[in-house]
Amino acid sequence: MDGIESRDDARTKSGDAGNVKTLSILGATGSIGTNTLDVVARHPGSFDVVALTAQSNVEKLAELAKLHQARLAVIGDEKRLEDLKHRLVGTGIEAAAGKQAIVTAASEPVDCVMASIVGAAGLAPTFAAGAHAKRVALANKECLVTAGDAFMAHIAQHSCELLPVDSEHSGVFQALAATNPECIEQITLTASGGPFRTWSRDEMAAATVDQALNHPNWSMGAKITIDSATMMNKGLELIEAYHLFPVEPDQLNCVIHPQSIVHCLVSFRDGSTLAQMACPDMRTPICYALGWPKRLEAPTQRLDVTALSSMTFESADEARFPALALARQALVAGGTAPAILNAANEIAVAAFLNSQIRFAEIADLVGWTLEQADTLGLITAASSLKDVLGVDREARMLSVSRLNRGT
Ligand code: NDP
Ligand code: MG
Repeated sequence: MDGIESRDDARTKSGDAGNVKTLSILGATGSIGTNTLDVVARHPGSFDVVALTAQSNVEKLAELAKLHQARLAVIGDEKRLEDLKHRLVGTGIEAAAGKQAIVTAASEPVDCVMASIVGAAGLAPTFAAGAHAKRVALANKECLVTAGDAFMAHIAQHSCELLPVDSEHSGVFQALAATNPECIEQITLTASGGPFRTWSRDEMAAATVDQALNHPNWSMGAKITIDSATMMNKGLELIEAYHLFPVEPDQLNCVIHPQSIVHCLVSFRDGSTLAQMACPDMRTPICYALGWPKRLEAPTQRLDVTALSSMTFESADEARFPALALARQALVAGGTAPAILNAANEIAVAAFLNSQIRFAEIADLVGWTLEQADTLGLITAASSLKDVLGVDREARMLSVSRLNRGT
């Protein structure tokens, strides 16, 4: 039967883990990586962990590799290889180091790669995963933001399944499960509004690193937490959604929803709107990406709508959050503009975290870099991964030169 299954059919199918058995995790020591391994630990016997990678946290990488009996552990920083080997002595776990070793690990022919490296550093490994894994569970949004056209073509060329992990995009994917994507009229991503949702521009200008890192609803890595405070994260997510779903930029929208219960709203041409709801916990979209087309049991708090005092929605204020406006402009400009936006933002967020610039200067630096790049003719048609990496480098150099000069 194609429609609703009988109660007995549905019951016999529930409970198994789906098609993913062998699993590698890029960025295993991070927030998404740790949450993924938490899901793995709660499904004993369901997954075989093949490769785990990290950049510098050798202690946590070794500990996770031992705990999950990985076959391979790779550390990006080559200086830490001896330390990693030392920690893995007698375990039989292979150790490797360096950028290329991460790409090699990502190329292991597994059922699924969780692509959860932060930033454009995740591009080459995620492309490698797309060519060799059956499925990529994509958390690394920078891959779609900077090289969306090339990445989607690459995924299609290798017949790789692409499952979004970003909670809003996982929600849209779920809302589309039973509908023709051509019938979409509008996709609305929700945003918590971050810690500065109600702050004035002047108050935000003086915000400290600790205040910006204090996200009200989500526990995430430092980079994305700052992006949530500037709302650049939602801007990057609009670009991400543009590549994942068959919509034009003017069909993409975002609204502030401080409770972070509704993750997206997908409106169709017959007037229906589907919302995906869950308590804010990344293990829900992670379970969906690993279990699809089935659903894995997630160890998360269940939504009790009677316990919610209210669910509110408000427009995003692009005057107070200029990063969102910049991302929207880059989306409309297309081509290499989003890669330049992303590169400048990575430099700006790192500088803010190092107390080199103030909070308001993050968006200033991104806006300045986009303008300079335009003047220099760097905003061109979308191109290959190699070209995108070249533009990424040039945009970083521009941003750094501005930082070094001061204002
Ligand atoms: P974290 O900063 O917590 O973790 C990043 C991971 O990437 C770590 O394992 C880190 O290793 C590794 N890493 C850092 N730099 C490099 C590098 N240059 N080369 C290779 N590996 C590197 O990030 P998150 O888990 O928060 O985010 C990961 C991705 O998922 C991001 O793209 C983010 O936008 C996206 N995402 C995250 C969400 C979340 O809830 N956290 C929600 C939605 C999307 P080490 O620990 O050694 O530094
Ligand atoms: Mg998100």
